[in-house]
Amino acid sequence: MQRVICNLCPMRCHMADGENGVCKARGNVGGKVKLLTYGKVTTAIVGYVEQKPFYHYEPGMKILSIGGMGCNMHCGFCQNFEISQGTTLPFKEMSPEQVVKMAISNEAKGIAFTYNEPIIWFEYVMDVCRAAKLAGLRTLLKTNGYADVVKFSEMASQMSAINVDIKGDAAEYKKTCLVPGSAEDVVIKNMASACRSSHCEISVILTPPVSVARTQSVLLKARSFCDRHTALHLLRFVPDFRMRDVPATPIKDMEDILAMSKEFFDYPYLHGVKTHNTECLNCGAVVVERKGEKCVNTKLGKPCGEFDWFYSCPSCRSQLPVRSSKDEV
Ligand code: SF4
Repeated sequence: MQRVICNLCPMRCHMADGENGVCKARGNVGGKVKLLTYGKVTTAIVGYVEQKPFYHYEPGMKILSIGGMGCNMHCGFCQNFEISQGTTLPFKEMSPEQVVKMAISNEAKGIAFTYNEPIIWFEYVMDVCRAAKLAGLRTLLKTNGYADVVKFSEMASQMSAINVDIKGDAAEYKKTCLVPGSAEDVVIKNMASACRSSHCEISVILTPPVSVARTQSVLLKARSFCDRHTALHLLRFVPDFRMRDVPATPIKDMEDILAMSKEFFDYPYLHGVKTHNTECLNCGAVVVERKGEKCVNTKLGKPCGEFDWFYSCPSCRSQLPVRSSKDEV
């Protein structure tokens, strides 16, 4: 029986009949590439946008986060490794309409595709997006960005907001995530496409040994495709999966990277160290207040500025890159 090639991500898996791809979510069934995990939801949790993290998109919005199984990366630090690397997890069969129903019955305003890489169950994600839009729900994507650029842009065009995870430079992708080739370039390209098509935020995981120079080169590349006001989330590595013997990123290293990142980004946030509010860059007023990963208060003025979604600071009226449908205060 003929071999087939899956084109969804740069792995370009060549599969003989009955064989599965690297992500274990797709396989060659009777000479055709088939999604094996359609509608198999392993995780469905109601929470808030901040937990993905999104800090400049609808602060405090309740969402339903869903995940399937498998992944096209094998990051040594993965905190969801049972989901991303497993194939025998219990799951619930959920049609796109059932996902939407669950979101609505829990008063969630959006559905987030997260926990494992969403591109690998592309067909299901697109179907859930269609159902969500019909019901007036937002759609959010948390992605490693390691996807075919055409398929990624197709998926990104259906999203209200996207958070792209950057795992480091090319060497770190190879060593820590076991991804061959120049993954960093693909991820940055897709991040650029995410910035063009919807609200985009960026996450960068700081894996020890942290190097300011190396992280600086990653941020510099990212900044050449997005604006200074893009929210940048600096994530702390904590021991997990294959890297349980590596201590968590030292706080001093995190703070050094935070200080350096201000050269490129106006709104960098450290995660896993302390709570960060969003403050007006001009007068320092707290405009989005958080406790942990939860928004507890927003004080946004009127929409203003070069983009229709920029809000103003209620104190000094400077523009803020926070998208919100909340009434002005
Ligand atoms: S999505 Fe999965 S099967 Fe397709 S190329 Fe990527 S790893 Fe291979």
